[in-house]
Amino acid sequence: MILLLFIFTIDPRYHTLDEVAYELDSIANNFSSITLLDTIGYSTCDSLPIFALKISDNADVEEDEPEVLYIACHHAEEILGIEVCMYMINDLISKYHIDSTITYLVDNREIWFVPLLNPEGHSIVMELIDTTWRKNKRDNNNNGIFDLDYDGVDPNRNYDFYWSKGGSSDPSSEYYRGPAPFSDNEAMAIRDLCRAHDFVFCNTYHSARTGLGEVVYFPWRAGEYFSPDFYIIRGIADTLSKLIINDQGNGHYMALPGYGVDGRARNWLYGVKGIFSYCIEISTTCIQPGWMVDDICQRNLVGAYYLLERVSTGGITGCIYDSLTGEPLSAEVIINEHYDPNLPPRQSDSDFGRFLRILKAGVFNIEIHKSGYESKFYQNVEVGQNTLTELNVQLKRMGGTFIMENNDTAISINPNPVRGTVAIQLTNPLYFTSLKMYDIIGRLLKNFDTTTNEIVWHCTDELNRKISNGIYLLVGETNEQVLIIKKVVVLN
Ligand SMILES: [Zn+2]
Repeated sequence: MILLLFIFTIDPRYHTLDEVAYELDSIANNFSSITLLDTIGYSTCDSLPIFALKISDNADVEEDEPEVLYIACHHAEEILGIEVCMYMINDLISKYHIDSTITYLVDNREIWFVPLLNPEGHSIVMELIDTTWRKNKRDNNNNGIFDLDYDGVDPNRNYDFYWSKGGSSDPSSEYYRGPAPFSDNEAMAIRDLCRAHDFVFCNTYHSARTGLGEVVYFPWRAGEYFSPDFYIIRGIADTLSKLIINDQGNGHYMALPGYGVDGRARNWLYGVKGIFSYCIEISTTCIQPGWMVDDICQRNLVGAYYLLERVSTGGITGCIYDSLTGEPLSAEVIINEHYDPNLPPRQSDSDFGRFLRILKAGVFNIEIHKSGYESKFYQNVEVGQNTLTELNVQLKRMGGTFIMENNDTAISINPNPVRGTVAIQLTNPLYFTSLKMYDIIGRLLKNFDTTTNEIVWHCTDELNRKISNGIYLLVGETNEQVLIIKKVVVLN
């Protein structure tokens, strides 16, 4: 009986879903300036919440800071990852404004955690229904009952990237990939989070019940098909794995390429989103005795923190703007030395036009493309050891037509120079998608309504403040990708 209890009891050191929820909630309340708690989805069968916690200064604002994601518990029984995430969350918040490195990281990164991605599968483990349960609880045979021998989808084979190559099509298999790519809410929650953010790195935490433990897998090697960033990703995996001391204390984790491409999270995260992703197989089995947990977490923390440092040590970063309006642009960034045309484009984000590509020291040829804009090519861009090379890019709109005053019939401004009030005449308002006034350095001052032929302007900005004397640019964006620009002189 004692033996049975030992086998079938899970140490209370491990969090239940309720405990995760309670702890995240109290952290979000007590550290509200540096945390943001969100529910990014609900589990497929039981609609249990999937939480995400963001840690950063001004946490409720999306800032122009590198983002890093930590995910645990794709697989229900692999509960050590939850503890690593919760441990790291507590470490970050408790050392903020105490430890200068942690403070710097919180202030200059956006750190995201999804500590318990598969809550309904996890409940099967924690309620001791099956402590080796791996999948979620999808009702594969639609009989309204949870069948241990038939139900569930492996969330880590459900991603839409070489989906059909991974796992099993047999619902009873532990590796069942689901009826369709992204059929299940768990993988969808990660997909949507990654679409809404621009993660540079991601650790997904696992533990191997039977396979090799204490390994860091990275994407990918499929025969002779290597991921285009393979050597950079591998270099980082090598460093990361060496930082995590093994349970025996006589060595460290080992970095291995993930063989093949399939619907695992790490392949989708990297293949589709360009996120350097690492699958960390924690410890040597899924459920270790409670007394080992803190030590395992502490050793894993070192590797997790390394990624937060690595985002600023070796690569190219910059913002891409419209040369005329200064608007940030989402454009494709090609590093020729690490380019695979079969993968979706690596793009700058639309909020800031920011891109950040992790590289090793070297010399690179870079291309920036966006439809409707002239491409830019940069040769021999140097990236040094431990530094980020800054490359800000102004893209020029193609077919942009510069029409000076007095030779333009689409917009007329009379009188110009303007004193006090002026009528801006549009010959055909339907032709315009926007009409905006900028100052000479490209700051947007006023957005005009283009539904009428005649706009009366009192030389005021968006907040109805009088603008000062000087030269301004009225930019009309048209539905033919043509910009009409008129110089306006204000002499109040
Ligand atoms: Zn796993």
